[in-house]
Amino acid sequence: MLPDLAPETRLFIDGRLVESSTGARFENLNPATGQVLGTTADGTAADMRAAVAAARRAFDETGWASDPALRARCLRQLHAGLLAEKEQLRAIVVREAGAPISLTTFMHVDGPIDMLSWWAEKAERYVYERAMPEGSFLGQRVRRLLRREAMGVVGAITPWNVPLLLNLTKIGHALAAGCTVVLKPAPDTPWSATHLGRIASEHTELPAGVLNIVASADSLVGEALVRDPRVDMVSFTGSTATGRRVMECSAGNLKKVFLELGGKSAAIVLDDADLASVLPGAAATCIHAGQGCALTTRWLVPRSRYAESIEILRTAFQAWKYGDPEDPVNLQGPQISRRQQERVLGYIERGRAEGARLLVGGGRPTRRGFFVEPTLFVDVDPRATIAQEEIFGPVCCVIPYDGDEQAVRIANDSVYGLSGAVYSPDEARALQVARRIRTGTISVNGGQWFQVDAPFGGYRQSGIGRENGEQGFEEHLETKVIALPGTPPG
Ligand code: NAD
Repeated sequence: MLPDLAPETRLFIDGRLVESSTGARFENLNPATGQVLGTTADGTAADMRAAVAAARRAFDETGWASDPALRARCLRQLHAGLLAEKEQLRAIVVREAGAPISLTTFMHVDGPIDMLSWWAEKAERYVYERAMPEGSFLGQRVRRLLRREAMGVVGAITPWNVPLLLNLTKIGHALAAGCTVVLKPAPDTPWSATHLGRIASEHTELPAGVLNIVASADSLVGEALVRDPRVDMVSFTGSTATGRRVMECSAGNLKKVFLELGGKSAAIVLDDADLASVLPGAAATCIHAGQGCALTTRWLVPRSRYAESIEILRTAFQAWKYGDPEDPVNLQGPQISRRQQERVLGYIERGRAEGARLLVGGGRPTRRGFFVEPTLFVDVDPRATIAQEEIFGPVCCVIPYDGDEQAVRIANDSVYGLSGAVYSPDEARALQVARRIRTGTISVNGGQWFQVDAPFGGYRQSGIGRENGEQGFEEHLETKVIALPGTPPG
C-alpha cells in the first residue's frame, strides 16, 4: 500500500524552500489516469539565475570543495533522510512517472537511494593529490604533484523516465566530487526532484547554495541554466535532440558538457541459443512502457530458426501483463503523457506503412490513462524508421539475419551506441561478438551491467562521458599538476 502523497512542491534555492518568483504553479498529472495530482512552483529564468548565483557563491566562498569529510557526512545524512522518506518517494515515482511498483525496488527507488552511501565513501576515500614519479626538464630534476579538484558549479538536467534514479545520480556524483549543483528536473516529474529539497533541508547540514532545485514547466528555463557563464559543467540526461541543443548553448563559455542520451540497442540471439529460454526475455522491451534508454528494442534472430523464434516471441508478447502501475503484477504502466502516447502510436503507424509485419498489439487500449499495447513487429527492415529511431515505447522490432558477421553489422548500423545483449551457450563465441558491438555496455547471456560502481554511457550519439564508477566521479574533477624543484642528482 502506498502512502497518501505529501510531496514538497516548492523550489530549493540557497538553502530555502521557496515559491517561484512569480508565484505561478503548474499541474502534475498521473499518467495512469490522466488526472491532476497537484501543482508545483513554476520556476522562471530569474529563479534559475538566483539558484546559479547561490551555487556559485557556495562553491567560491565556502570550504565545501576542499572538505571531503563534510561531503561524506552530508551524503550520509541525505541517504538517511531518503531512507526515512522512502515510501513517500515510492508513491511519488509511481504516481507521477507511472513507474510500475514492482520496479521501484531496484530501479526507481531503493537501489538509487542506496547509491548515496557509495558516493559518500567515494568522497572520503578518493586520493585527491598524489606525487608523480620525479621527472627532469632541461637537465633539472622536477617533482610533480598530480591534483584533482572539483569542476565547480554543475548544471544538472534530467528526464522523466527514471526521475529519482537520475536526480540522485546527478546529485551523488557532483556533491561527492565537491561541486555545487543546480538541478532542473523534467516538467512531467517535478516532485521526484522538489521532494529532495525538503529532505536536504530537514536531514542534512549541506551549506546553503550547495544544492539547488528549480522545477519549471518551461524547458527554456533549463536553457537559461545551460547558457549561464557561471556554470562550469552541464550534466545532461535526455534525448539526443535536446543533447545537441545543450551542446550548442554551452559553447558561450566553453563549459564542460556531459551527455547521457538515447539508444536503440540490439539483442543478438546467436544460432546455437536456447530459444525457449532466451526469447521470452524480448518482452522486457515493454518494461516501464519501453521508457528506458538502454532497453534492447531490436531483436536480431537467425533466419535459419526464424519461424520457431517468432512463435515463441508471439506467445511471450501476448502473455505480457500491463496496466495499473500500482498493481505488482504489471511491469508495464502508461507512457508518461498524451504527447508520448501519440508519438509512440505514430511510430507504430509508420512501421506498418514501411512494411513491417505487426504480430501483437499496436493499439491504444480503451482504459483511461496514456497506455499503449505491448507491440511486436517482425520482418523489420534494419533500415526502417522503427529500426533506426528511438521510439521510447513498448515496441519491439524483430530483424532476421544470416550469419554472425551480418548480425554484428546490423547491430552497429545505428547512430546510437548505448547498450546491447548477446545470447549463446558458447560463452567464448558470445564474447567475441560482444567485443565487436560499438556500445558503452553490453550483456552476455543475461549479465547485468547496471551498478553504481560500473561506468555507464554511450558511444556515438548516445552521449559523451560516463556516469557511475571511478570514471563518473572523475568526470566531475579538474586535473592540476603542481611542479616543484626536484631533489638534486647525487
Ligand atoms: P528531453 O530531451 O525532452 O528532456 C530532458 C530534459 O531536458 C528535461 O528536463 C527538459 O525539460 C530539458 N530540456 C528540454 N529542452 C531543453 C533545452 N533547450 N535546454 C535545456 N534543457 C532542456 O528528454 P525526455 O523526453 O525528458 O527523456 C527521454 C529521453 O531521455 C530519451 O531519449 C532517453 O533515451 C533519454 N535517457 C537517456 C538516459 C541515459 O542515461 N543515456 C537515461 C534516461 C533517459
